[in-house]
Amino acid sequence: MKTYGPVAGSALLQGITGKKTIIMAANVRIASVAEGIFRAAKDTDSAVIMELARSECDLKGGYTGMTPHDFSMKMNAAAKATGFDVWALHADHITIKKGDAAEMEQTKLLIDAQVAAGYTSFAIDASHLFNFEGKNVREELDQNILATTDLARHIQKRMKGKEFGLEVEVGEIGRKDGGGLVLTKPVEAVEFIRALNENEVFPQVLAIANGSTHGHTYDDKGNVIEQLSIDINRTKEIAKALRDNNLKVGIAQHGITGTPRDLINLHFPKGDIIKGNVGTFWQDVVFDTLKVYEPSLYQSIQEWTLEKYRPLNPGKMDKQIFDGNCKFAIKEFFKELYAVDHTTEQAIQAMAYAESLVFFKAFSSYGSASIIRKSLRKK
Ligand SMILES: [Zn+2]
Repeated sequence: MKTYGPVAGSALLQGITGKKTIIMAANVRIASVAEGIFRAAKDTDSAVIMELARSECDLKGGYTGMTPHDFSMKMNAAAKATGFDVWALHADHITIKKGDAAEMEQTKLLIDAQVAAGYTSFAIDASHLFNFEGKNVREELDQNILATTDLARHIQKRMKGKEFGLEVEVGEIGRKDGGGLVLTKPVEAVEFIRALNENEVFPQVLAIANGSTHGHTYDDKGNVIEQLSIDINRTKEIAKALRDNNLKVGIAQHGITGTPRDLINLHFPKGDIIKGNVGTFWQDVVFDTLKVYEPSLYQSIQEWTLEKYRPLNPGKMDKQIFDGNCKFAIKEFFKELYAVDHTTEQAIQAMAYAESLVFFKAFSSYGSASIIRKSLRKK
């Protein structure tokens, strides 16, 4: 009997090699969107990745209120309910900020819980460990390489020979200096992957800083605007440099929310970018629906968020304060969010379904599930 459990992330990421396809990775902060996403994946034959970052989901529940076990249960249930089989359960941003022994130890405990919960893919993010005093690229990246290698080996040991997806990160996404967003250089991507390969760590996908930020983009009045800052040429240059150096790794595009989908469809280098992370967008789907279907719950969430975050954001408009911090209300209103009316649930799922269709089309991922299914059967 089919269980519809997640398959190895590596099977998804390697299964589309040579195809001009991006696999959508959805950060499902509120699990109600998952059935809609899976149903769209099934109807369009699109492989999909379900993921949450360490900040969103950890041993204490992160800001979504879900532990790795909770998240896994909910995603498995949604896959089963829809009968969809080509998906991976991914740990997004397993973030290391200092790299000291205590943090590494805590991180390994998180990974152990993710493995126990049945995760099939992992993203190690030690990009914060950039050494600004380094005399060359290798020195600048040394601590990132060290921490990434250590954690990758830990995952490998815990997975006991089972295949898994591995994403690594060079260049902190959204980091700015005096000149604006700092972009990853091709030489950094090459040096980083080469060093990891020398350590026998072989990620299938690399996250780079290429001009996106996590969450929404705002104008100077605090209005949400389209994100047009992803540097497509730099992304292509990095992919080419990796290929020219015979390094077999695709690119993960983080922070897609706000990027117009016609721009993605026509101009993204699909196949250079193989994984596309969409997070805040799915939270918007839920909150926009709540506004109409559950106005009193929405109002409570708004009041709680503003009361808590207004003092921390002097000078900012309420709407931007709410927009940037409503994610922290998910844990606080966990019970209420998961006890909404059937009609609310129905609307959320239908919205998630329709929006997923548009993403899958823009990512050219229609048909990717069958391709991956075939490659899984050969194994
Ligand atoms: Zn990210």
